[in-house]
Amino acid sequence: MQPNYFDPFVLPFTLSMFALLTFLVFKYGSWIYRFGASDRKKVFKGFFSRNSWLAMKEIFMEGLLHRKIFKTNRRLGYMHMSLAFGWFLLIVVGAIEAHTFAKGSSPFYFPIFFRFFVPGTHESFFSDGFTQLMDLLLLFVLSGLFLAVLKRFKSVWVGQTKTSRKKPIDRVVLTSLWLIFPLRLLAESFTSGIHHSGGFLTGSLGTFFGVFLPINQLAYPAWWAYSLALGFFFIGLPFTRYMHIPTEMVLIFFRNWGIKLGVDNPVLMEVEINSCPKCGICIDTCQLSSMAGIHNTQSVYFIQKLRYHEDYNQVAESCLMCGRCEAVCPVAIDLNSIRLMHRADVSATREENFGFIPVQTRTADVIYFAGCMTHLTPTIKNSMVKILNASGDKYWFFDKEQGACCGRPLKLAGQLEAARELVERNRQMMMESGARMLVASCPICYKTFAEDYHLGMEVLHHSQYLERLMANKQISVEKLEVSAVYHDPCELGRGSGIYESPRAVVQNVAKLKSSVYQKENALCCGGSIAHLTLPLEKKKQIARETLRLLTVEHPQVIATGCPLCKKSFTGESGTKIMDIAELVAKALVAKPVREAAKQQKEPVYL
Ligand code: SF4
Ligand code: SF4
Ligand code: SF4
Repeated sequence: MQPNYFDPFVLPFTLSMFALLTFLVFKYGSWIYRFGASDRKKVFKGFFSRNSWLAMKEIFMEGLLHRKIFKTNRRLGYMHMSLAFGWFLLIVVGAIEAHTFAKGSSPFYFPIFFRFFVPGTHESFFSDGFTQLMDLLLLFVLSGLFLAVLKRFKSVWVGQTKTSRKKPIDRVVLTSLWLIFPLRLLAESFTSGIHHSGGFLTGSLGTFFGVFLPINQLAYPAWWAYSLALGFFFIGLPFTRYMHIPTEMVLIFFRNWGIKLGVDNPVLMEVEINSCPKCGICIDTCQLSSMAGIHNTQSVYFIQKLRYHEDYNQVAESCLMCGRCEAVCPVAIDLNSIRLMHRADVSATREENFGFIPVQTRTADVIYFAGCMTHLTPTIKNSMVKILNASGDKYWFFDKEQGACCGRPLKLAGQLEAARELVERNRQMMMESGARMLVASCPICYKTFAEDYHLGMEVLHHSQYLERLMANKQISVEKLEVSAVYHDPCELGRGSGIYESPRAVVQNVAKLKSSVYQKENALCCGGSIAHLTLPLEKKKQIARETLRLLTVEHPQVIATGCPLCKKSFTGESGTKIMDIAELVAKALVAKPVREAAKQQKEPVYL
């Protein structure tokens, strides 16, 4: 005979689960519907492709095991993993157990409340094995919960200095989430105590509680409470940060199917915003928080403002765009791009006319673009000119008269149309020169040329150019008697992935020292032009603290590859600050000008 697998207490869970699933189907369906035609095509094509398997692998590694958080902070990684992976295993193993031991057909909620309907009596080694395993998994989840509660009261104990501020609705739903597992433990323990069953955890606790509690009366209310906690959580989930749980999975699928964020794809931005769990990892890594005492503009708060449609103008502009938060964000949200897109939103669109910039073209092999910040640090510019002259390359100093800008500042200020017009003007002149290569001294200019100009010629940062000149023996250098630590500029390192070329250059001319704060973990100099409102004193504060951390190994020189970094650091430390171009110019060994250069009638434009 089919046993009765229904009791009214299952209703809060069952109904809320149906409501949540209905909501998610409509929500995700509406996102796909709002995608452009080509992205919709990618969804339908991608669904049956190998990329879906890759997405599932990524969901397992990042959504369940939280590999990226583990890399940043082990305790935090364990906390997230035990909650997510532990809960997942409880569902999967619970479903297998329920399927194995159900008599006849069973409803979908059966595995969740299995111990209520099948209290278990240690019938076989096999069933006892399942009971013990389920207890172990529950303990695993509870250990993560313990860390989560600890983190709420004293976040440093789990390795986080600051955690994100919660909205009241988040707190209510968080409480219901926290209650789910202790209530399950109580319900299963009381039932086990009554039936003298259960595993090493629920069985022992049931016996223990039976000594001084009326477990016969308490068991049924405990199952109701457990079901109600689940119900509250599922009903509240769409309105809180917990929406990230299902949405992050959807985001991973979308990305693996080739859907990319862009100004023409605000839907994916909505998916990314809803995928943020407010883990707060971006807070500690932000120097505005750790060095300048500014605690309300970090990416978690910016995303929160977008999510709840609050006024985001001030927060959108208050960011160095250093990319440190993006580098550690476990969900890989395109934080800089999203901020930039919203700056474009808040900036009034101005009519710009760049007709005053003379259109001039020269023929050359190499175009050199110093950038306005390099003009403000003339020692870098002069060093590059010295090196270019020694190289024998026929070059054109594009912005020698300082009248040109790459357009990035306009873009950072959200003036996208004006930036586009300026880019087009420069592009036209550069392409007519017939040059095979463009060299930029400023990493910001370099990134702009590489990404926005589509010049059809090689674009190099001067560190790459210098490395090549040395490798091709176009210049000769001697090793200087100095030790140097290399500071990765944000836009060159995290922004463009150029880490090795500058190091190779420094290694050729000085003794290179390493630092904890290097490559992806490099600090920002504080002088970023991307922060539109940061007071000078705060910028200096960040520069001083960064320098302090960079000089723990007592290098004689701090080498960098960005004029803005050099400018921000200069005067804030006793250690000498040099651009790598200055180091190379100093190490340059005079040699006869190459034949090619001699033959040029008009070899260089200075
Ligand atoms: S933006 Fe990224 S790092 Fe920051 S809270 Fe959200 S998921 Fe965490
Ligand atoms: S980009 Fe840099 S300054 Fe901006 S929020 Fe992220 S870490 Fe902070
Ligand atoms: S990005 Fe900055 S340094 Fe580079 S040219 Fe434009 S304004 Fe000047």
